[in-house]
Amino acid sequence: MRIYDVIIIGAGAVGASIARELSRYKLDVALLEKETEVTFGVSKSNSGIIHPGTQNPSGSLKGRLCVQGNLLTRKISRELGVDFKEVGELIAAFGEEEKTRLYELKKEAECLGVPRLEIVDSAWLRKNEPNLSKDVIAALYAPTAGIISPYRLVYDLTENAIRNGVELFTETKVDNIAVKEYFEISARKAVFKSRFLINSAGLFADEISKMVGVDDFKITPRKGEEFLLDKKNEYLTSHLIFPLPAKTSKGILVIKTSDGNPMIGPTAEDISDKEDSSTTDRGFQEVLSQVKRLVPAIDERDIIAYFAGLRPVSDNDFIIRYEDKVPGFINVAGIQSPGLTAAPAISLMVCDILKKNGLSMKKKLIFHSHRKKTIHLFAIPLEKTKKLVKKDAGYGDIVCRCEMVSAKEIKDAIDRGARTLDGIKFRTRAQAGKCHGSFCTTRLMKILSEKIDVPLIEITKRGKGSEIVKGDRRND
Ligand SMILES: Cc1cc2nc3c(=O)[nH]c(=O)nc-3n(C[C@H](O)[C@H](O)[C@H](O)COP(=O)(O)OP(=O)(O)OC[C@H]3O[C@@H](n4cnc5c(N)ncnc54)[C@H](O)[C@@H]3O)c2cc1C
Repeated sequence: MRIYDVIIIGAGAVGASIARELSRYKLDVALLEKETEVTFGVSKSNSGIIHPGTQNPSGSLKGRLCVQGNLLTRKISRELGVDFKEVGELIAAFGEEEKTRLYELKKEAECLGVPRLEIVDSAWLRKNEPNLSKDVIAALYAPTAGIISPYRLVYDLTENAIRNGVELFTETKVDNIAVKEYFEISARKAVFKSRFLINSAGLFADEISKMVGVDDFKITPRKGEEFLLDKKNEYLTSHLIFPLPAKTSKGILVIKTSDGNPMIGPTAEDISDKEDSSTTDRGFQEVLSQVKRLVPAIDERDIIAYFAGLRPVSDNDFIIRYEDKVPGFINVAGIQSPGLTAAPAISLMVCDILKKNGLSMKKKLIFHSHRKKTIHLFAIPLEKTKKLVKKDAGYGDIVCRCEMVSAKEIKDAIDRGARTLDGIKFRTRAQAGKCHGSFCTTRLMKILSEKIDVPLIEITKRGKGSEIVKGDRRND
């Protein structure tokens, strides 16, 4: 049986970043994911903010990796053709007491190396953020905060890692690990062998760690409910608007997203069920009252969608360590926020740990660092669309009218690995508009069914158990 040099468990932002980083080297690497597609874990349900590093304790690992990750994400997004926008953030202060706290936050962030921080006054705020509450008297301005599409980043990282030789196995849930001369990893019917094993299984990292006998941490899901507003509110704010950070989170904020819809949230509530992604009326009321305090113009009638994500929390900081008592095993756990931002820095740290612990890492002669930017009609001017339609009529065949997504973009997404309706949505935005796919779902199912040659009754929203239509295969 083949023996991999490194196996990574979990294909979220962290696992995908590690896989891409390792693909620079002459190594046999596999990425195992339990879901039908990558990024179907925590990495699909977050705020998409590339944090500057302003709201982390100055001595923390997550703070250091956040600042480094913010820098690295810019380079990676250019290489992979993922849109990154540096929109900047404002942490708002109501009253003199809160203003004093802004100076403390600034000092802490400067210790971590966050650049270009400024305390701005009410005159600056009136001019640059006119919809902000007039009760805000000052703010900490961090211009390096950015926004990105979290799922498109993970898809593109994975695609690039695969191009550079990484093997991806989806629907591969690791359920046992035997520690022998090599790690013997069982996942349903398959068994994999590897010299080094990286645990980046998000919410389930404690369960994976336990399989090799390291049982000294627990992952608690911290639920965050978020609410998306109609795109017509795209310019409601120019920056990300934060309140002062709360004890267990960065607070409930007004978010700009890379696709244009503003978003409000997230809540922060520790729960016990790792699969509970329900939203609640309580969460909605809490979010609404908090964000209206910051931006009174927010209108609940503009909310078009909502979701909840679960932060994988273990104590207060990330756990990234080589487990001496299980040589070859590395835990990358408790990657709560700002894990999306920190992921590229985490991947460098993991490479260092591997090197220090005996993995020979020789650079490949050729590493394909760049991928061709994916075409999204919603993001390009009409003149360019016209040229594309002339080249390929598929660009003129609009399937999702809300978000202007063509049949050609959908087919390309399937060619790049989409196997579910959510996979198509996250890659292209088809079904992400106001009608939530009422108009295009049947057409999407038909295209997917024809392209991957499976009957319509096997088309799912997000993997087995979420089939859209019931039926008998024989009558399909
Ligand atoms: C509401 C919310 C908002 C957030 N906002 C931000 C933000 O704006 N900016 C930011 O930087 N961070 C943010 N975060 C944090 C960020 O989303 C996470 O830190 C990051 O996505 C964690 O990535 P991951 O790869 O560790 O986990 P995941 O994405 O969960 O990846 C782990 C993967 O492991 C797989 N897996 C689990 N068990 C197994 C198994 N047994 N076998 C095989 N595979 C397995 C899972 O299916 C999953 O795909 C937010 C989080 C939440 C919940």
